[in-house]
Amino acid sequence: MDTMVNTKRARGKSGAPAQPVRPTREQAEEAVRTLIRWAGDDPNREGLLATPSRVVRAYEEWFAGYKDNPREYLKRTFQETGGYDEVVVLRDIRFESFCEHHMAPIIGRVHIGYLPRNRVVGISKLARLVEVYARRLQIQEKLTAEIATCLDEVLKPYGVAIVAEATHQCMTTRGVHKAGVTMVTSRMLGVFRDHAETRHEFLSAIGMRGAIHVANGAG
Ligand SMILES: [Zn+2]
Repeated sequence: MDTMVNTKRARGKSGAPAQPVRPTREQAEEAVRTLIRWAGDDPNREGLLATPSRVVRAYEEWFAGYKDNPREYLKRTFQETGGYDEVVVLRDIRFESFCEHHMAPIIGRVHIGYLPRNRVVGISKLARLVEVYARRLQIQEKLTAEIATCLDEVLKPYGVAIVAEATHQCMTTRGVHKAGVTMVTSRMLGVFRDHAETRHEFLSAIGMRGAIHVANGAG
């Protein structure tokens, strides 16, 4: 039997950062014109005339994650396990985010594992969880930890394991110009932190056995 929990949408609580005063669309477009001038071009030349409005619309998509509170969302969508008590692994969830230091794309994959206590969530919900956190300005370590903490607090499983692998365009297209470098971050909670065997089961499932050493739970 499916059990749905209805909760009122809480704004500005954990999960959804409190919004500072939002500039108008006009102001945002003007800021883009300023950056075009800063880059050395003329925002009034024909090819660039519609660019500020396109960039602002793209921002609405890239940063849509500020509008959602994944905690509330997950609370509404979990289901009873029906006795299932094995590790659940969802791997290769692609994400696109932006680094909060350079606002350059971070593109990669997240692997999620958890050992349910009495609640599971559907695959699409987990993918959506990743997306909500990814569609904000991020650092990969925080993204990894936020996904783990949210799943842990809402589903209250025996443990949560998150591994993220991504390339950072602020490293590949500027600065040190290191193409092909992938950053790997992980967060292990509960049984995945405490029991090497359970952790290895997860790491094998995502093809990373032996690649990650957990010393203190921070991964
Ligand atoms: Zn960066």
